[in-house]
Amino acid sequence: MARVVLNQVSKRFSDTVAAVSELNLEVADREFLVLVGPSGCGKTTTLRMIAGLEEVSSGEITIGDRDVTHVSPKDRDIAMVFQNYALYPHMTVRRNMSFGLRLRYGGNFIFRMWRRWNDAESAARREEQFRQIPQRVDQVAGTLGIGKLLDRYPRELSGGERQRVALGRAIVREPAAFLFDEPLSNLDAKLRVEMRRELKELHRRLGATMIYVTHDQVEAMTLGDRIAVMDQGVLQQVGPPSEVYHKPANRFVAGFLGTPGMNLLEGKLVEENGRLQFRSGGIALEMSANQRPEWEPSSSRTIVLGVRPEAILLTEEPSPGCLPAGRGQVELVESLGDVAYVHIRLPGLPDAGDQAPRITAKATISADGLTDRLTPLAFREEGLHWFD
Ligand code: ATP
Repeated sequence: MARVVLNQVSKRFSDTVAAVSELNLEVADREFLVLVGPSGCGKTTTLRMIAGLEEVSSGEITIGDRDVTHVSPKDRDIAMVFQNYALYPHMTVRRNMSFGLRLRYGGNFIFRMWRRWNDAESAARREEQFRQIPQRVDQVAGTLGIGKLLDRYPRELSGGERQRVALGRAIVREPAAFLFDEPLSNLDAKLRVEMRRELKELHRRLGATMIYVTHDQVEAMTLGDRIAVMDQGVLQQVGPPSEVYHKPANRFVAGFLGTPGMNLLEGKLVEENGRLQFRSGGIALEMSANQRPEWEPSSSRTIVLGVRPEAILLTEEPSPGCLPAGRGQVELVESLGDVAYVHIRLPGLPDAGDQAPRITAKATISADGLTDRLTPLAFREEGLHWFD
């Protein structure tokens, strides 16, 4: 069992810097959990506290059934893979991969003699493990496709190969849990996609607990069984990727996930002549009964409507499940080939000037020629989110 539990864990570097605040997180045995959030949100600090490389200021950490809060890193039975690979430059790949095991089962001559004299049975077991190291390294190298690189030095490897060696070094140790700190960020885009697939496959095959830190939401969404979104040291939401994407707990999560992020429009809910409208700037959305937010209409309360870019249609043809949202001025179209991001300025209030609200739609139809034109807008009802 390699369940990892963080109970009210905090880290303060000084009176003014609270890197992580009262974090409660439970990573199930064999789960792939991704910690994601913007730069400086406390992801790496959290991972380093799990690894024991950083002392907690308060709270407890357990791995399996063991409280490891004050246990040294080498005794936590975890392996960490870093962004910069952290390979020993003067050792071959084989030596890099076997180094940790040699330390664990080997040791110098005097230490081995002392162990034999002290507990012959356990010393024999360790020596057997020590003899098996080359086999284990060969086997893991084979799995990762780096068998031919075992006698090379790190400087003779490409970035992707170095990353595989770093992974291999972690795998041979057969730890209870793997910790990854942005391990793919030094690779080019194509290799990153390839390694992402390999990591996912590796997780399936090894059946190990993995905790993975990234600021890249695509990595988070594709790799994680669950993702934990952090901001300013505070956990915002944790859940399966599709749940966090489709049911964001707050505005931060809504805006952080998705490319581009969710559009957020501030406005008021108004009821007039029995009709309910959401008014934001110069647009008024007629709410249908099943789209009614949970709040009562009020001219003094500001609420926020969230609309995913893919839930915005550039059409005026009425269709079921869509709310007409007036017209907007297209300011810019970014074409990505299969889709285009259409940046639209909504009609503001008369004195709004440059403050007029803007939204981005994701169009799968050709958006060429839309720039500087007025476009009709409709919001898919199922893609609407309300925030207080
Ligand atoms: P990034 O994605 O940029 O690596 P992160 O989410 O991993 O960011 P952390 O490295 O955990 O963020 O840092 C969280 C906060 O703690 C930041 O404000 C950072 O400046 C601060 N911090 C991290 N390490 C230290 C340190 N050793 N001393 C003082 N402050 C630190």
